[in-house]
Amino acid sequence: MTLPRRNAGWRPSELLLPTPTGLYCPPADIHIDPVRPVARALITHGHSDHARAGHGAVLATRETLAIMALRYGDGFAGSQQVAVPGEAIRIGEVGFTFVPAGHVLGSAQIAVESRGLRIVASGDYKRERDPTCAGFEPVPCDIFITEATFGLPVFRHPPASGEVAKLLESVRLFPERTHIVGAYSLGKAQRVMALIREAGYERPIYIHGAVEKITAFYEAEGIPLGEIRLVAETDRKTLGGEIVICPPSATQDLWARRFPDPVTAFASGWMRIRARARQKGVELPLVISDHADWDDLLATIREVQAGEIWVTHGEADALVHWCGTAGLKAKPLHLVGYGDEGEADPAEGVADAASV
Ligand SMILES: [Zn+2]
Ligand SMILES: [Zn+2]
Repeated sequence: MTLPRRNAGWRPSELLLPTPTGLYCPPADIHIDPVRPVARALITHGHSDHARAGHGAVLATRETLAIMALRYGDGFAGSQQVAVPGEAIRIGEVGFTFVPAGHVLGSAQIAVESRGLRIVASGDYKRERDPTCAGFEPVPCDIFITEATFGLPVFRHPPASGEVAKLLESVRLFPERTHIVGAYSLGKAQRVMALIREAGYERPIYIHGAVEKITAFYEAEGIPLGEIRLVAETDRKTLGGEIVICPPSATQDLWARRFPDPVTAFASGWMRIRARARQKGVELPLVISDHADWDDLLATIREVQAGEIWVTHGEADALVHWCGTAGLKAKPLHLVGYGDEGEADPAEGVADAASV
């Protein structure tokens, strides 16, 4: 997309504004990722802090609608409409275009455009390659709305392939121990499995029941994950030397102690902070994130060439400050209700949402 003619007939807040329910577009009477039930909702992706049940009408990508149906049942909304990435949908005099965000399968940014003003709400996003979903596409815009889950200079994510290599090296060194990898059930778990396969690992991968439905959906969408087996259908005593994927909360449960001499791993951007890993009893921290790290947040802000940046959730202050030093107008939106399921801060216990 190229930037529209810069002749904004709207003041930005007339086209999109933060409300306690989420971002709201008055001329179309529609919310983006509302945290409470609304008449009409646009949903960026299936994580439970963005995709909630009970809206009147929902517009989202085909994959996101399918994920919501898997989690909440077919009647999760009064009506559903598929948004095809790259195709604008007009509501009143506003055009809405879904564009891949690279976060999880089906995830999208939403470009909101009217009278020559374009605002892009990026939802959650990352820039690192992910074999399980379409890559982020930068959209030039007047105002870019970004998350800041890892919006501090300390957060620099190493390549995920190297982290998976650490896991496989540990499996090689400790062939009698079960490696239990905590990974959020939508997106991270499947990405970790896909990366393990890319690294050439061919043994079955064992999963916790909470990961099963979404994993089956990824496979049905044509993402090869190799042979997957359910822990529940296996004698755990035989799982020494094997890899088990489960929701992060399960690594803390009795459930995780019933394997032969388990090694507890956790795949999250938070694992960059060693104290977090220690506090959670994580023996093998794997810094694998589905969110942009500090460098990628800055690179993305530069790339979209917006004159103004709005920061939704996460570490807004540092990012807003950086924008100021770069000569960009920026403000935090202080949206509440988004503590991403996909990368909730384990220290704050939000991670439990992942067992949905
Ligand atoms: Zn989120
Ligand atoms: Zn998310």
